[in-house]
Amino acid sequence: MSRTFARRFQVATAGHDQVLDITPQVREVIQASGIRDGLVCVFVAHSTAAVSVSEYEPGLVEDVRVAAERIAPERGSYAHNRLNADDNAHSHLRSLVIGPSVTVPLVSGALTLGTWQRIVLIDFDTHARTRTVWVQVLGE
Ligand code: ZN
Repeated sequence: MSRTFARRFQVATAGHDQVLDITPQVREVIQASGIRDGLVCVFVAHSTAAVSVSEYEPGLVEDVRVAAERIAPERGSYAHNRLNADDNAHSHLRSLVIGPSVTVPLVSGALTLGTWQRIVLIDFDTHARTRTVWVQVLGE
């Protein structure tokens, strides 16, 4: 009989493409769920942040900034900024390309991440924020 368990946690970020390893927080939710086999969905409920899976080391974290600037340059002519007197169209665009969630199989109580894979939260916004991340575990 499968069941679901959902819990959210908050993360303080610095914005500006900061990459944070949130794997420990996700593992805590899995522990609390008591579920050992199924799927784990990790979702950030904000339109200028993203969740993905990546190696987590300083060089790559720096490279993410370079890649993000290529996806959507910070300086540009954006309707979102013009029409809303906002400054973060590039943040929204980077977020929508990477996406708000990942789903990872859970097998025998463990995430099936590869040796170098971590679940990461990336904050593309232009200032420090507090981000809400949801984890839903589905299984038995
Ligand atoms: Zn905006």
